[in-house]
Amino acid sequence: MEARLWKPLKNRAVQCRLCNHYCRIAAGERGKCGVRENREGTLFSLNYGKIAAISLDPVEKKPLYHFQPGTQTLSFATMGCNLTCSFCQNWTLSQTPVEDGQIAGRAATPEQIVAEALRVKAASVSYTYSEPTIFFELMQDTARLSQRHGLKNILVSNGFMSRECLDELGPHINAINVDLKCFTEAFYKEIAGAHLKPVTDNLKHIKHTLGWWLEVTTLLIPGRNDSPEELEQLTDFLVHEIGTDTPWHISRFHPSYKMDNVPVTGGDTLTAAYHMGKRKGLKYVYIGNMPGLNRQQTFCPGCGQRVIDRTGFTVVCPAVRNGHCAHCGATIHGIDMGKAVNG
Ligand code: SF4
Repeated sequence: MEARLWKPLKNRAVQCRLCNHYCRIAAGERGKCGVRENREGTLFSLNYGKIAAISLDPVEKKPLYHFQPGTQTLSFATMGCNLTCSFCQNWTLSQTPVEDGQIAGRAATPEQIVAEALRVKAASVSYTYSEPTIFFELMQDTARLSQRHGLKNILVSNGFMSRECLDELGPHINAINVDLKCFTEAFYKEIAGAHLKPVTDNLKHIKHTLGWWLEVTTLLIPGRNDSPEELEQLTDFLVHEIGTDTPWHISRFHPSYKMDNVPVTGGDTLTAAYHMGKRKGLKYVYIGNMPGLNRQQTFCPGCGQRVIDRTGFTVVCPAVRNGHCAHCGATIHGIDMGKAVNG
């Protein structure tokens, strides 16, 4: 289908305005993501309605720990990504359109996706697994429709979309998890093929202007983005420019894709980052992909009591009453906190 968010240039070239690459694409060529093509001066989305992955997931798997906890979300993706992370854990889904030009997927319309979400009694639809920015048109149509049926919409993203893209989605998205991959421009440029500033600017816009529920994830890669100095800067940014009520998920790296010779993240590194985030004042810090460390629980920021237990994807909220701690009454930040439980 014809793409949205682009403009014509001279000589039948176009500029895509969907993400911060702002690709200038000559006639007959594709953008960096490999899923948007200039056909004789008109930009087309090649992945509209081509579903490459779909599953009913716990919302905690996104990860979102403070958005309708204990509920299920119908999650899907098309192929493609606007970044080229050499450590991508989902690279067969994200990089295939760029590597060999293939865009595989099962045909599905927004109506069929929403009908499926209702059939399986999902509380929300999630745009996830690859990078949803590059299936913007399908996401926008599905989100509008799902909203009309009372479903929430969740984005799991690298945060490199354009401001225009974010604002178009503004009224339809309820929650987002953004992958803040590191806090240096060099890492973003060399390892992910992107830039840091658009991501930090978007995080501020999401939190302070759009008002979506926001959680942030950082995958700690040994020797690449886990120095104490860099994590000091990253956590300072979260505390001072995003807000201490924003949950921060620290995630364990596993060797993958072009980084298959880098070891897994050590427990000591993850634990040190956890304590740094807490010491700086972040109210909710979690360690993912490493259940043995037992850092998936929520503690009340007021009295310190444990208020939400998570074991795997089973969630119980024994001490949250309509968004407040049952012990001291402090706010437990999030959406529908303490309403839904599955354990
Ligand atoms: S979505 Fe981003 S990478 Fe893809 S064509 Fe548009 S500007 Fe380029």
